[in-house]
Amino acid sequence: MTDTTRHDWTIDEVEQLFSLPFADLMFRAQEVHRANHPHNAVQMSTLLSIKTGACPEDCAYCPQSVRYDTGVEREQLVPLEEVRTRAQAAKDAGATRFCMGAAWRSPKKRDVAAVAAMIREVRALGMETCATLGMLTPDQAHELKDAGLDYYNHNVDTSPEFYGEIITTRTYQDRLDTLAAVREAGLNVCCGGIVGMGETTRDRASMLATLANLPQHPESVPINQLVRVPGTPLAGAAAVDPFDFVRTIAVARVVMPKACVRLSAGREAMADELQALCFLAGANSIFYGEKLLTTGNPDVTRDRALLARLGIQPLVPPGLSPPQAPAHEHEEHVHGAHCSHTGSHTSARPVSSCAATRRR
Ligand code: SF4
Repeated sequence: MTDTTRHDWTIDEVEQLFSLPFADLMFRAQEVHRANHPHNAVQMSTLLSIKTGACPEDCAYCPQSVRYDTGVEREQLVPLEEVRTRAQAAKDAGATRFCMGAAWRSPKKRDVAAVAAMIREVRALGMETCATLGMLTPDQAHELKDAGLDYYNHNVDTSPEFYGEIITTRTYQDRLDTLAAVREAGLNVCCGGIVGMGETTRDRASMLATLANLPQHPESVPINQLVRVPGTPLAGAAAVDPFDFVRTIAVARVVMPKACVRLSAGREAMADELQALCFLAGANSIFYGEKLLTTGNPDVTRDRALLARLGIQPLVPPGLSPPQAPAHEHEEHVHGAHCSHTGSHTSARPVSSCAATRRR
């Protein structure tokens, strides 16, 4: 039951996991989790929007699309110095990975060069790096890898069957092609989706089967709850049943046992008890910091208090130094455990590109 290497999940099989009694699914997810990960440990990433707004794509959930009137102001690429300052602040607050997200369909040559410089800057601080820049060519993926990028985030967002209801300006295959380029370049893959866009349980099962049946499971699987941003086509979407959201986390944990499952967008609106259930279901990564690209995130103080109440410690990847806790805190860290369990975090995100599920 804890076998972790399957790549032949049928949608029916995954849907049956969703149909288990809640306690049975949670038990199974916990079994898989404890067999594959240090328990009571959560990896913490901080996300910075390095280029905000005016994206030509039409992702129905996204406030950064130029097609929707959401009040998001267009911003230019942030200066290198600001990236360094923000990454240092994230590290000081306890994050071990710094994710940089840009609202592009795909980056231009000069964009890749600029982001490569940012990657070098963040790596020099002793942090893992992640980027989400839209679709990539194989050459661009290699260029980012050569700059020291650890993870690339590009979400599939939803099932292949439901995808056309959400995005029309790029195909599902486009996304899979970018994921293949990222993998081929030797980067760790961060790829997940969004719950709450009107999809069925079978769509959720199909999305997770898609991810689990990739030639290699993503090292990081962000599961986002739709943030219903006014002005986007999904602003009026029905709220997700919290237990259905937890089930999605648990099923992701079961079908991709070694992946780091990230409790991603939507966390700001979640009660502490719901977040605790998500951790129990196998989530072992969070975004940490006050903002997720353009939407809110719980503040650092609340997060630290919640993790302390739950006895959860920061997960520090091998080769990285534990973050310095404020003097009044006596925080321990689980060291030597790499969330992705690839054993090569140096060889090797999000939000959209944008896989960016965005969390945008
Ligand atoms: S999710 Fe990414 S690709 Fe889609 S509109 Fe937003 S920024 Fe653009």
